[in-house]
Amino acid sequence: MLLEREVEVQYRPLMREALQSKVTAVADSLRGQTPTCSRCSQPMKRHDTETVSWEARVGHLHASVDRYRCPRCKDESRPLLDLLGVEPGRISGSLARLLALLAVVTPYALAAQLAWLLLGVKVSDMGVWKVVQRLGESAARYSEGLSQYHADSRSEGASTREAPPAVVLSVDGSMLGMQVRKQRRRRTGAEPLPPLPAVQEGQFQEVKTGVLLLPAERVETSPGRHSVVRRFLVSCLGDADTIFARLYAQLRELGWVGSDTVVVIVGDGAEWIWNRATMFVRRCEILDFWHALEHAWSVARLLYGEQSQLADRWVHQIAEDLRAGKVQEVIARLQRMRPKTPELRAELQGLIAYYSEHAGRMHYDEYLRLGYGIGSGAVESAHKQVVHARFRQAGMRWSEAGARRLLALRLLLLNDDWALLDRLPMISIA
Ligand SMILES: [Zn+2]
Repeated sequence: MLLEREVEVQYRPLMREALQSKVTAVADSLRGQTPTCSRCSQPMKRHDTETVSWEARVGHLHASVDRYRCPRCKDESRPLLDLLGVEPGRISGSLARLLALLAVVTPYALAAQLAWLLLGVKVSDMGVWKVVQRLGESAARYSEGLSQYHADSRSEGASTREAPPAVVLSVDGSMLGMQVRKQRRRRTGAEPLPPLPAVQEGQFQEVKTGVLLLPAERVETSPGRHSVVRRFLVSCLGDADTIFARLYAQLRELGWVGSDTVVVIVGDGAEWIWNRATMFVRRCEILDFWHALEHAWSVARLLYGEQSQLADRWVHQIAEDLRAGKVQEVIARLQRMRPKTPELRAELQGLIAYYSEHAGRMHYDEYLRLGYGIGSGAVESAHKQVVHARFRQAGMRWSEAGARRLLALRLLLLNDDWALLDRLPMISIA
């Protein structure tokens, strides 16, 4: 341990020097090149030179930077900073991506602490937050742009020549606690800020996650337990149309929907999912098996009481019959029951209505035979991994922009696509 650290301490300044000399070389290579104005294409004039510094993983870097100005439009430009992708006083592109990576898995304060322990870099919570805003904005714009691109039917998707026979799509949602204030409070003049209003309850916004996977790639990891080799996640703050536009764009990017591909849509009873499902011509709608049973449980509890073995057996029988594709038999049996209390009658009628409405989505024997699966467990666990594990910790409150940006970054990591961030620019947030 000591030997390893000794070498790190010894070589860190040398790495900084090596990097600094590369930066200086780039600066020298630009010297004497006069840029042209981006607005009027006239050559610009050198206005002044100042020393600019910023933080990299190996330490403090600096460069002497020429500022040019267009004599006609007064536009300014600092070509060296544009070339290096550096903003004065900020964090280098490479370090920024490492800090963002930490913040994607853990709260900002803890990420700042980890930056010190793992990277030997001192940065404030706010410093980490800012980096996430700048890279997250870029990632969010990229995925929104993808949705828009594929929303146009003339846009080209990936080749569908190897499109799978079936792809499973499912969606889940939950609520995020939002900040009540739309804007950060700013002090005007010497006036102290007024006290904050108490946090109001009920300020929530829905966040939705969708999962795409290929049934052929499901493997049985242990008896009865299935896991998938690949899955793609999309997530957004927003309405049903937004998440379906994202899912559609991702399917086109993957080349997963060919003319013969069946899109298998697994949902709970929520109407918005089935309404959007119609966008896929060849589709198979499946009511999540566990939701179907949950409804049976509420009748069973009224019928036999909590924790009763009879209730267990009653639901178990329904589960077996449904799995065997006998939904009509189950409905007929429920209709023959003579409920003794009004409460039970209402609950039973509810169950019959639910099964009757979704009977066409309950051919579980067939779905199992085709390998489609019958449950939305994959999306529920994905949603927890995307959202709950980072966004729903105690006392967390989000701004819409903050949640949207962090969500875009977290998806890159969970989709194993983090390297994409290297190709996206850091965006200045005013
Ligand atoms: Zn000009």
